[in-house]
Parts: sequence; C-alpha cells; structure tokens
Amino acid sequence: MDKSIITLGGALWINLVNTTYISNKQEIDILANASSALQWMKENNLLRESDVLALEKKELLDSLIVELQSIRTLCNTILSEIDQRGEISLNTTNRINKAVEKLQVSLTIHSESEKLKMTLEGETVEDHVMYNIIDSMMNTFENTSLGRIRKCNHEECKLYFVDTSKAGKRRWCSMELCGNRKKAAGFYSKKKKS
Ligand SMILES: [Zn+2]
Repeated sequence: MDKSIITLGGALWINLVNTTYISNKQEIDILANASSALQWMKENNLLRESDVLALEKKELLDSLIVELQSIRTLCNTILSEIDQRGEISLNTTNRINKAVEKLQVSLTIHSESEKLKMTLEGETVEDHVMYNIIDSMMNTFENTSLGRIRKCNHEECKLYFVDTSKAGKRRWCSMELCGNRKKAAGFYSKKKKS
C-alpha cells in the first residue's frame, strides 16, 4: 500500500473514499484486507488505545470494516453529487442523518499540551470511528466551499482532495503521483510530434 495515499485527501472522510485507488492500472482497495484497513485507521488517528486492544478480536475488526465500507459508499455518493450538481441531495442528507442517529457519544475532558479540552468520544470503537468520519465531513462543509472538494484531473486517477491552496487551483491529488507523470506524458507526446 502506498502510504502517501492514506492521508492525501486532506480530510478523514475523503481519505476514506481514497481507500480505493488505481495503481498500475489495477484497482486497489485498502479495506479489502483487514490488516491494511487497521493500518489505515491508525494512520488517520481514528483509534484510541482501548480501540486498538478491542480490535484484536477478529470479529469486531471484520464488522467494523463492513461499517466502514458502507459509510464509504455514502461518502462516494456525496462526492459525486457535489461533482455533478454542486449540492447534496435531500435523500443523501437523510442518509447522513440516519448514520448520525444511531451513534452513541459522550463528552470527555482531557488535557492536551497543558490545556484542558472537551471532546466527544464514541461509546464503542464503531461509534468512535463513525463519529469521527461524520465529524470530519461536517468540518469540511463548514470550512470549505464545495467547489474546493475535487477529483484529481488525471484521467487514470480517482482520488479526491480538499483544495486548501490559496489560489484554489490545485489540479492533482499530488504532484508526485499525478502532476509529474502528466507533465512527463505531455513532454513525451510533444517530443514525438516535433
Ligand atoms: Zn491523481
């Protein structure tokens, strides 16, 4: 698994959509494999110590992955609606609401670099992971215009990202993965023609 892909989207819920990607013309699914799915959750800071321990139980990890796949489908729908119609449909909003309704979360105070902070935490691993994904989605909607949530311009790439650049003209998921190979392809095709 290419580690740079895990957090490339710039927001957790977009990173989740990016768990399926194309590498050497083959579709890869990080969630198709339990250990890479677990690594993906760790890299995205989704798990508390207690969660990591709880997920040593294979059945729990497997059922969490099923939940992740299902919310990934929802995130994908949201992105394609933003892409195609520039807004999120009522039907999809209802689906997000359904996912939120069943979450069990509670407030917790903890100290972070000598300051006290209040955060919401899920009761179970599943609650915690799902809450964080939906929270990241709401954060994106609050702080970013929908036009800055985009798909990479490379025709053989399906990765999404939040464009946080000042000019808002980012075209590639990353320069390393797509920007450079596109430039190189352009260079070679020009060379051939001349
Ligand atoms: Zn790309």
